[in-house]
Amino acid sequence: MENSVNLKFVQQEQTTITSMIRIYCRSKHRKGAGLCPQCQELLDYANERVSRCMFLPEKPVCANCPVHCYQASYRERVREVMRFAGPRLIFRDPIAVIRHFRMTHRADSEKVARLRLKMAKK
Ligand SMILES: [Zn+2]
Repeated sequence: MENSVNLKFVQQEQTTITSMIRIYCRSKHRKGAGLCPQCQELLDYANERVSRCMFLPEKPVCANCPVHCYQASYRERVREVMRFAGPRLIFRDPIAVIRHFRMTHRADSEKVARLRLKMAKK
């Protein structure tokens, strides 16, 4: 099921998360090139999760997803990164922010909608 559209989408998400973790790490942990080991680990984890998302190719943005596939500890760290780097990313990569904003407001795919409904009934 790995077609080029879905690959492109995964790559976009990965690029965005990479930029955000870079902004975060550079401000909080180390100056200069490269990520600190913890941030590198977080990035590897996030990239892996995105590429294995069960909703591909119509993946919702992670914040809107009915499934929380991140382990709690990683989820907390990613949230912190986004809170910090999200507003700063607007200046670095406005296209990525706009793209993400548009994705956030996109309607659920059928698969997502069905699962959300099922979970609401519980
Ligand atoms: Zn770091």
